[in-house]
Amino acid sequence: MEFTRARLTDVMAKLGEPGFRAAQLHRWLYSQRSDDFGAMSSISTSLRQKLASSYAIRVSSVVRTEGESSASMTGDGSQTVKYLLRMPDDELVESVLIPSGERMTACISAQAGCPLQCSFCATGHMGFRRNLHAFEMTDQVFALQQETEKRTGGRLTNIVFMGMGEPLLNLDNVIEAVATLTGKDYSFSISEKRITISTVGLVRGIERIAASGLKTKLAISLHSADQQLRERLMPVAGQYPLDELGRAITGYNRMTGLPVTFVYMLLRGVNDTAEDARKLTRYARRFLCKINLIDYNSIVNFEFRPAYPDTRDAFVRHLLDAGLQVTVRKSQGAAINAACGQLATQPGPSASNRSNY
Ligand code: SF4
Repeated sequence: MEFTRARLTDVMAKLGEPGFRAAQLHRWLYSQRSDDFGAMSSISTSLRQKLASSYAIRVSSVVRTEGESSASMTGDGSQTVKYLLRMPDDELVESVLIPSGERMTACISAQAGCPLQCSFCATGHMGFRRNLHAFEMTDQVFALQQETEKRTGGRLTNIVFMGMGEPLLNLDNVIEAVATLTGKDYSFSISEKRITISTVGLVRGIERIAASGLKTKLAISLHSADQQLRERLMPVAGQYPLDELGRAITGYNRMTGLPVTFVYMLLRGVNDTAEDARKLTRYARRFLCKINLIDYNSIVNFEFRPAYPDTRDAFVRHLLDAGLQVTVRKSQGAAINAACGQLATQPGPSASNRSNY
């Protein structure tokens, strides 16, 4: 059983316990991050015994770290590091710790694999394994928080749901994980504004987020403002044409008052021409938005290559001249296959790390 708030409430009701016990237990699991019912001292001995006889708190493990030795060598933890985590059922997922200036960002996976098969993405090509539970997402954050403390003595400053999988195909669990990570009276407590949920543009999910009251940021992988090309790059875009996506974004802007970030990965000779920049300008200027241009990281056996620097500069100039807000980001972690679109799991040797289940 996954220990969500709702499930814990059910369990407490079945055991004839008052409702507040569920919140107490949840805090023991996700704030104190206890892996032993016996140690939950604010809970009666008889309830602890009942829980221990019926349920288990299982632990996950970091099975491989890439980039660690070079990170240590920098002395300030300023190197992107990729973690391979084994879930309790042996499923493997990857998470990435991305330092940048004052920021320390945890890039978290929402699914093991992904069913959407975007043509440029290693995760899509490994196929879909399963949705992750909420605890498996909070677990990734806690593992990366532990690493951050070890490396810098500091805290994670940002969380992005941009690892393996499409978060909006697993939105209930993402929302549950966000609620745990932002819990005000929890030891790990981060503002919703420091969390970004990313999507390829699943309209129903965007509408749900808009109506949910969440104040997290929303990033939409656009990659082209041409419908046909977009479908070639991301087949699921065929189900959500740009016009329909646009209506969902307008609704999101209106209901939340927040901008969206369009993520646009520049692919040499594919979506980086002057005409592509014009199409993007025409599309984006209708919305409250920012544009985040990122370099493509070549993946062995994939047909795509990053845009030439001159082409990228011309593309950026076009957007800026049109008055759009643009950031250009060199996607980090390419050397360890931890950059955007490069995550795909492979098993490796084990090293332990605790977590709650
Ligand atoms: S880019 Fe995202 S949505 Fe597309 S296949 Fe990769 S993980 Fe899935």
